[in-house]
This record gives sequence, structure tokens and C-alpha cells, in this order.
Amino acid sequence: MILLYNLFSKYADNLKLSELLRYFKIISKNPNIINFVNGLPDPRTVPINEITEITNQIIKEYSVRAFQYSITCGIKELKDQILEFVKNRGIYDISENNICITVGSQEALYMLFSIFINPGDNIAIENPTYISALETLRTLNPNFNGINITPKGYEIDDLRKSNAKLLYTVPSAQNPSGYTLNINERKKIIEIAHENNTIIIEDDTYGFLLFDDYVPAIKALDDEDKVIYVGSMSKVFSSGLRIGWIIANEKVIEKIEALKQNINAHSPTLNQLITAEAIRTGIIDKNIAYTKSLYKMKSNLMKNEIIKNLGDKVDFISPTGGMFFFLWTKNLDTEKLLEKAIKNNVAYLPGKYFYHDLSGYNTIRLSYSYPRENEIIEGIKRLGEIIS
Ligand code: PMP
Repeated sequence: MILLYNLFSKYADNLKLSELLRYFKIISKNPNIINFVNGLPDPRTVPINEITEITNQIIKEYSVRAFQYSITCGIKELKDQILEFVKNRGIYDISENNICITVGSQEALYMLFSIFINPGDNIAIENPTYISALETLRTLNPNFNGINITPKGYEIDDLRKSNAKLLYTVPSAQNPSGYTLNINERKKIIEIAHENNTIIIEDDTYGFLLFDDYVPAIKALDDEDKVIYVGSMSKVFSSGLRIGWIIANEKVIEKIEALKQNINAHSPTLNQLITAEAIRTGIIDKNIAYTKSLYKMKSNLMKNEIIKNLGDKVDFISPTGGMFFFLWTKNLDTEKLLEKAIKNNVAYLPGKYFYHDLSGYNTIRLSYSYPRENEIIEGIKRLGEIIS
């Protein structure tokens, strides 16, 4: 008898369930575990009353249109608002033809990687980098070149050496390291990319959540139109509405539109209308200010607790924004250590899964966005107990 799973395509053979899921499952079974694994936004950052009000108003105003098919790369109302919104990141002089609204930034990354990468292509990514981007990239079998991020900083020369066709970068409050490239590093990246004819895919998912120093998007510094910008509403408004976007050269947007037609025709019309209205009325700007201050407070709290409980046993980069803390232990195998941590009712994500070569065996990613303040204090204490 032919078994269905023997008939999968070569592409399907490369699809693996995320490592994250394995840990989510273990942890969700035990309510006593303090969970530093999930990258969920703090529930207090979803402006539920405002969303309810806007939604009612939109249904009244737009009626059936809010529930109809709409055009592939997004409705005009939202594109117009995104054009305004990204001015906060220094991005001007673009038109509606340069934007495609996507189902979260995850769909944006999936589509961009698909239209540019052939098996064996030389691509550059940060090491460590965002795990779901890495898993998406793996399905395309590229040749990975890591740009190391360590407690000492960002090794830009690794990019020069790679001679890559494409760079995927998360330059602002990077997930997982918390690192933000300063303006000179951004200019350097553009210079190298232009020299080597490298396409830059800039994932600015946390660009609106930088705690202190403003730094414009890499896209804002590019005068050769080689940077493709990816944004998201997930961390500043609602992750469940699944609204993200791509800003790029018209020719790139045309290809994306052709691909998106095949995937899901368009992002949900109602969700686009809600998001457009939330930008227009200033709800999102207000929410960004609140979210930044909440995460800054939580990250400072986590930092103080780490210093108190883990002292000289770990290195870290103080997060510049976003939702994560990344620790470098001296030489502990953090995947093995996780079993002990779970017994002590605290869980984190072993950092090695963020490395294309799994080299960061001694690292840990901690999320501070979701746990409550008292859980941060207690959880880091429990972590301190097992690391000592
Ligand atoms: N990029 C980065 C760096 C992320 O951390 C995330 C979410 N964790 C995403 C993209 C995807 O976000 P979404 O699809 O919800 O926009």
C-alpha cells in the first residue's frame, strides 16, 4: 500500500514543525511554569476598547464592503495610512505602488524569500537571527553566511566577506539579541550591499519599539532602491489581526502581488479597515508610546534581576527595544539545562535554534513582554538557582 507521507514533494520534505512548538507543548501542560519562551505581546498592549469601538463604527460605515473580497496588495485606505505611518521611520517619497499589505510580516518574509532565493544562493543573515525567518529560509536550501552578533557587537565585516546576493537583517531591537545597529553601522551595511550588489531585506518589526535613541530605518538611508522594507502591526497594535506590509520597488511589488494572488488573494478586508482607522485616529501612536514605556520598564526589571541573580555567570547586550533578552552563558549547554529549569518551574528558549549553524549552544532567549512583573522577578530567581 502506498503511504501518503511517501508522496510528499521535495519542498514538503523540507518543511519541519518549528522547534518552538515542542517547547510550547511541554510548557503549556504545566501552569506553574514561569514562561519566558513565548514571544507574545503583553495583553495590556492590545487596545481592546478602542478596537471594539472602531470595529462597530466600520461595520456601520462600510457595511458589506468590510466583508467582501478586496484587491490583492491592500485597500487604498490602509496603504494611504501606512505611507504616513512609515514617515516615523524616515521613509518618504514612496507611492501606493510601492506597498503591498500582507498577512503579518511572516507572509511578507515568506514571499520575499521565495521570489529571490534559488537553492545554493549565497545569502547573509545575522547569527543569531529570527527563528521563523531562518526556518522559512531553510526550505529554500540557500548557502548561509552568518554575521555574528556577540556581546561585543555586530561583526559587519562578515557581511563583506559573504559576497551575498541577499541580506536578511533585523536591524532594530533584533529578535533575539536586542541589538540595534547605529546610524554608522546602517550606512556601512548599505555601502557594502551596494558594492556587492546585495539586496537588503530589512525586517523592521520592532523599529517602532526602540526605547531611547531614534535611528531611522535602513530603507530611509538607501539611495539606490536596493532595500526592501518589511513592517508589522503585530507588536504595536494587534498580532491577531495579522497585518504586515512590504515597501519596495514597483517591480518587486508586482511579483509579490502575483504570488500573493496564489496564496490568499488578499489580507482580510475588515482587518485592513480597522488598522487604517486606528492609524488615522492616532490610536496606534498612543499605543506605541504606552507599549514602549511598559517594555522598557519590564526590560529594566529583568536586567536588574539578571545582574542580581546571575551576576558574572552570563553576558548580555542590554535590549535597546522590543521584547527579548539574550544571554550568553560561559559554556553551559542550555538545551540540557532546560530540563532542570522546567523541573524548577521556569522555561526559556535555548538560543541555539536562532543560529543557522546551531552554534549558540550556550545561549538563552528570554521573553519579557508577556510575563507579569512579579513573574519576571520570581522566574529569574529560579533561573539563578539552576545556573548557580
Ligand atoms: N520578524 C520578527 C523579527 C519577529 O520577531 C516576528 C514575530 N515574532 C515577525 C517578523 C513576524 O511577525 P508577524 O507575522 O506577526 O508580523
